[in-house]
Amino acid sequence: AETILEVKNLKKHFDLGRGAVLKAVDNVSFSIKRGETFGLVGESGCGKSTTGRTIINLYDATEGQVLFNGKDVHKLQGRDLKQFNRKMQMIFQDPYASLNPRMTVGDIIGEGIDIHNLMSGRARQDRIFELLETVGLNAEHASRFPHEFSGGQRQRIGIARSLAIEPEFIIADEPISALDVSIQAQVVNLMKKLQDERGLTYLFIAHDLAMVKHISDRIGVMYLGALVEVADANELYRKPLHPYTEALLSAIPIPDPEIERTRERIILEGDVPSPVNPPSGCRFRTRCPKAMPECAQVTPELKEVEPNHFVSCLLYN
Ligand code: SF4
Ligand code: MG
Repeated sequence: AETILEVKNLKKHFDLGRGAVLKAVDNVSFSIKRGETFGLVGESGCGKSTTGRTIINLYDATEGQVLFNGKDVHKLQGRDLKQFNRKMQMIFQDPYASLNPRMTVGDIIGEGIDIHNLMSGRARQDRIFELLETVGLNAEHASRFPHEFSGGQRQRIGIARSLAIEPEFIIADEPISALDVSIQAQVVNLMKKLQDERGLTYLFIAHDLAMVKHISDRIGVMYLGALVEVADANELYRKPLHPYTEALLSAIPIPDPEIERTRERIILEGDVPSPVNPPSGCRFRTRCPKAMPECAQVTPELKEVEPNHFVSCLLYN
């Protein structure tokens, strides 16, 4: 499949005043193919949401580029910009906060249709009913208000809203993190079904590797504003190379008690350092169980150390 999104040396820095700069995203590069799901994983504050927001043009890039279908999203104007605003949509962790409490569910879903003048009257209404059914709700729900729904149902409404204008690409920023575990799988399955039916491409953001496991084709692991490992999902779970990925993986329970019993859990010491003042050399070195003296001097680059498996760690130089 062709590349739909290319993120090239992206930096997003926030000026905090008095010379302090928050380097939320600091030289991130990756690409996503059409129809693929790319899982972006990291602890809170690692820059994954900022990456998503810069990709969808809620933020300007400080440096670098985001190419969507070959065009720089931060330079789009006129028709191209309008098209982009349709083709790329975002769904959020807290669907309730992003659903206007005073609007009916039907009008929430229809808003995008109206903004983009896609259809009106009966056609619009049929489209809203159809979308509700697509996400596992029904036509009667259109006249109700967001507070009448459970968390999982609200996320379905958020998904229906994003689908209303027929996007190609959806950024899902922790869409299941706030949901009960039993509901998480339902929302993931719904997203997979919609992807198959509509050829959607997803950037799926999550704070742990368990959440992206069943949906991602490839996964990128972020730490302190940088990507530390990128690989096919199966490969990453089977053979993590970066010490940070190893630690994240060791925190996921494995259903097989035999493996679970013999497995070592890696506990990372200390807190994530501030992205205003990241450590010299390797950013992970203050918490890395395998750190060596040179890790303070040399900044590792993201390198392809096995086919399609990229890692930024001096152990693989
Ligand atoms: Fe650990 Fe050094 Fe590799 Fe960084 S470069 S992850 S500190 S071993
Ligand atoms: Mg976030």
